[in-house]
Amino acid sequence: QAKKEGRNNFQFYNKLLDKKNHERLEIENQLRKALDMNEFSLQFQPIMDLTSNEIKSVEALIRWNNPILGKVSPDRFIPITEETGLIISIGEWVLRTACLQLKSWENNGFHSLKISVNLSIRQFYQPNLISMIDNIIKEIEINPSKLTIEITESMTMDVETATSILYELKNIGVNISIDDFGTGYSSLSYLKTFPIDSLKIDQSFISDINKSKDDENIATTILVIAHNLGLSVIAEGVESKDQLEILKRHKCDEAQGYLFSKPLNSDDMLHFLRLNS
Ligand code: C2E
Ligand code: MG
Ligand code: MG
Ligand code: MG
Repeated sequence: QAKKEGRNNFQFYNKLLDKKNHERLEIENQLRKALDMNEFSLQFQPIMDLTSNEIKSVEALIRWNNPILGKVSPDRFIPITEETGLIISIGEWVLRTACLQLKSWENNGFHSLKISVNLSIRQFYQPNLISMIDNIIKEIEINPSKLTIEITESMTMDVETATSILYELKNIGVNISIDDFGTGYSSLSYLKTFPIDSLKIDQSFISDINKSKDDENIATTILVIAHNLGLSVIAEGVESKDQLEILKRHKCDEAQGYLFSKPLNSDDMLHFLRLNS
């Protein structure tokens, strides 16, 4: 009896695994043609300056709508684009599209608006990263100081190589921000070694900041350390006024989250800019 049940369980898990593998393969197959089929788009989420209460910047966030799979979230498909190498061409598309969009807002009179673009670890180590970014900036005629590259610290990086790539990025004039700070392989020594401009406190520390003294202490400590090192700090995932008040009290520089706006398409973003600048 036990043996029979064991085998049934085995078959059950086998089927689950089959289904998962099949799903993953289907995503991979669909991803291979998604760029050519124009299935990607960008949304933009406002980043607010907490001193002036004005919109300062936007973060570009990729969206994928596939005819068979429907809308797939970046948390689900970005890792697959990294494993397959597809992130190299998709990442270049994201950067070019984001810069074109910034240029168009500039032409609509929003001259001081900046933009942030996420860079995955695989892109970070691509051999032509610097020339790829530099070419796009020059082609579209963007002031490089209006572009921020967001990288996550959770990458298993060799500190020396990473530092030299970051210096090359600084050399072409772009800003560098550490995304999801406080998760993954956080190392405070990075903050000292890397030539970075800002860090983004991960939303997992923000969500309970108004309920948990521990979370408030973590956020406050990150703020003090960052400010002492001359870095500016952005809070991610701010959803309530209570959270915002605490962050303001501790001199957080900028904030992003549903309290201000969800990520918006290009038209809705233009509307938001007209209302909030
Ligand atoms: P991220 O860079 O940390 O982006 C912030 C995520 O938090 C976004 O999710 C955003 O929609 C979400 N968010 C913003 N405010 C709030 C809030 O108040 N509450 C909650 N619960 N969530 C909020 P999204 O767009 O699903 O992106 C997830 C992740 O996928 C991003 O995290 C980033 O790591 C990655 N990603 C997105 N676009 C790109 C891209 O173009 N290239 C690369 N390499 N990665 C990307
Ligand atoms: Mg980001
Ligand atoms: Mg983040
Ligand atoms: Mg994230």
